[in-house]
Amino acid sequence: MEGGLKDGFLERAYSRIRRAASVSTAIPARTLPRPEAISAARASLPNPNDADYLKGRGDQVTLDHMLGTLAPAFNGQNLSGRYWGFVTGSTLPIAEVADNIVTAYDQNVHAHLPEQSISTEVEDAALRMLLHLLDLGDPSTWEGRTFTTGATASNILGLACGREAVLSARLPPGSESVGELGLLSACALAHVEKIQVLTSMGHSSIRKAASIVGLGRASVKDLLYSDKEPWRLDLDAVERELRQEGVANIISVSAGEVNTGRFATTGFEEMKRLRELADRYGAWIHVDGAFGFFARILPDTSEFARLRSMTTGLELADSITLDGHKLLNVPYDNGVFFTRKASTLTGVCKNPNAAYLSGGASCGIQTPLDIGLENSRRFRALPVYAALVSEGREGLAAMMARMVRLARAIARVVRDSKHYALLAGGDHGEEWVDLQDVSVVVLFRAKDDALNEVLVDRIHRTGEWYVSGTKWKGQTACRVAVASWRADVEDAQLVERGLAAIATEHFASAR
Ligand SMILES: *Cc1c(COP(=O)(O)O)cnc(C)c1O
Repeated sequence: MEGGLKDGFLERAYSRIRRAASVSTAIPARTLPRPEAISAARASLPNPNDADYLKGRGDQVTLDHMLGTLAPAFNGQNLSGRYWGFVTGSTLPIAEVADNIVTAYDQNVHAHLPEQSISTEVEDAALRMLLHLLDLGDPSTWEGRTFTTGATASNILGLACGREAVLSARLPPGSESVGELGLLSACALAHVEKIQVLTSMGHSSIRKAASIVGLGRASVKDLLYSDKEPWRLDLDAVERELRQEGVANIISVSAGEVNTGRFATTGFEEMKRLRELADRYGAWIHVDGAFGFFARILPDTSEFARLRSMTTGLELADSITLDGHKLLNVPYDNGVFFTRKASTLTGVCKNPNAAYLSGGASCGIQTPLDIGLENSRRFRALPVYAALVSEGREGLAAMMARMVRLARAIARVVRDSKHYALLAGGDHGEEWVDLQDVSVVVLFRAKDDALNEVLVDRIHRTGEWYVSGTKWKGQTACRVAVASWRADVEDAQLVERGLAAIATEHFASAR
C-alpha cells in the first residue's frame, strides 16, 4: 500500500495503463501475443518453492510486473479490431472509462437504498433504455429486469423462471412457489413427471443452465427444422411435445445460433404461433438473444431488412437473455435478463428472513439481491449506461451496421474465392449463402481437406487476424465473428490477401 495513495500513484498508474494499452491506427495491434511473451509471463508467476513466495513486493513492483510482463502476454481481443474469435466483443472507450469509475467508487448494488446511492436508479435507467432501444415496448411489461454476469447467468435465470412458472401454473391453488417447495415436491404436487427444454442448436450454456436449475442436461431436446436449416426450430415438433400429458415445457429460442448467427424463428408469424402454442399448453418461452437480438437495433434500411424481420416477434417471449460484453462492447462481465413479472424472479431468487439486507422497493425498482443470482453485486450497469448515453440509438445502430458490413464483406470474399467455401447456406444449399442472411458470423471451410485441417492455425500464425475453430456437421470449420466497435469493412481485403496467401503456400509445399 506504500505507494497507494501517496504521490499520485493511482494517477500515474492509470496513465501508464493507457499508454501500454493504446493502439496506434498506423500499426494495428497483434491479435495474439508472441509465444516468447507468454513463456516469459508464465516464468514470472510466483513460485511456491521460492523463499519469498508470499512476501509483499509493493505497489510499484507489482505494477511494473503486470504491465511489463503479464500484459504483453494477453491477447488482442480488445486492442485489435481483427480479433474475430468467439463473439468476444470489445470495449468502447466510454465504457472503459465507466468501468474505471465503477472500480474507483466500488458501489455494492445489492439493495435499493435511494437516500444513500443513485446506483440502483442508474441501473434501472440503463435497463429501461435498453428496453426502448430494443423496441420491447413499455418497461412496465418487463418488470423483472436485472444485470447479470453474462448470457450464461441470464440463461440460468431464464430456465429457473421457466421452471417456476410452468410448475406454478399446475400446482393446486394457494401453493407456495417452486423456489420454496423445491423441484421434487413441486413436480409431485403438480403431477409433472418431466420438464423439457425444447430448442434448436441451443447454446451449450442452455444445457449447463438446465443442469444447474435441476432439470438436467438430458432435458434439453433439439427439435431441428431440417438438415439444411438445423438452427430453425421445428414448430410442428414443438406442438407434438407440448401435447404430452405430465410433461411441462420451456421453449428456448436461439436468436441467433452461435456457429452461424442464424435465427431459430423466421419472424413474427412463427413467434406468434409459438406464443399461441405456449399459452395453450402452459409452456414458457425463453429467448437466448445473447448477440443476435441486437439485430433489432440495425438501421431501418433495405440493407438490413432481412435481419430485422428475422428478429420480429421475439418480443412475445416470457424471458430474454442478452449479453453486454459481446456486441454492446462493454467490458466483462456483463449480461442482461428480462422477464415479464418481478414475482417470477423473486420466486426463484428471494433471500428469505434477511431484513437487514432489504432496501425499500420504490418507483418499481426491485431489490437487486432478490431478483438475481448474486447478493453483493458490481455496479456493472454503468458501462452500459455510458454506452447508451454517449452513443445513443444512432451511434449504436451505426456500430452494429459496421460489424454486419464487415462480416458480409468477409463472406463475399470467401464466397468468391476458389479455395474456400461458405457453410450453412440453409435453403440455398450448403455452399451458397445469401449475404442478406449474414449478421456478424461467417462460417467457412477450405475446400481441400488437408488445408482445412490446418486453416485456423495458419491464420493465427499471421498474427494479423483471429478466428475460432469449430465443427459444422461433424467437419472442421472456421468461424469469423465480428463484434468490435473497431470493425472496418476495409479489413475484408486483408482476409482476401491472407486466405489467398495461405492457399498458395499450402499448395506449393504440398507439391
Ligand atoms: C455467448 C453466448 C452465450 C454465453 O454467454 P456468456 O456471456 O459467455 O455467458 C449464450 N448464448 C449465446 C447465444 C451466446 O452467443
